[in-house]
Amino acid sequence: MSRLSMADKLALDKFEVDEGESHIHLHNELCKSCKEKNCLLVCPAGLYSEQNGEIIVEWAGCLECGTCRAVCPQKAIEWIYPRGGFGIIYRQG
Ligand code: SF4
Ligand code: SF4
Repeated sequence: MSRLSMADKLALDKFEVDEGESHIHLHNELCKSCKEKNCLLVCPAGLYSEQNGEIIVEWAGCLECGTCRAVCPQKAIEWIYPRGGFGIIYRQG
């Protein structure tokens, strides 16, 4: 049996997006003085980007690993698990 790539595994997952409430809040004012910008490098789903000098997170595709919050040197990321019933539903380990 062939092994699935990361992209193939992620494509099997399902997301119940909580349209009314993001579980990630960025304090963008703190990002302006951040030299490392670790969030752009570590998110396994590539959800962080920089647009017109602002850090953006496309939170709806969050894999709920918590890595971005752990590596942010400015503590600029407020992160909680999505409300019950929302978020990612893993289908492949
Ligand atoms: S690592 Fe934290 S402070 Fe730095 S750009 Fe990303 S969210 Fe902002
Ligand atoms: S918790 Fe993980 S998947 Fe979600 S935004 Fe942070 S690094 Fe990306």
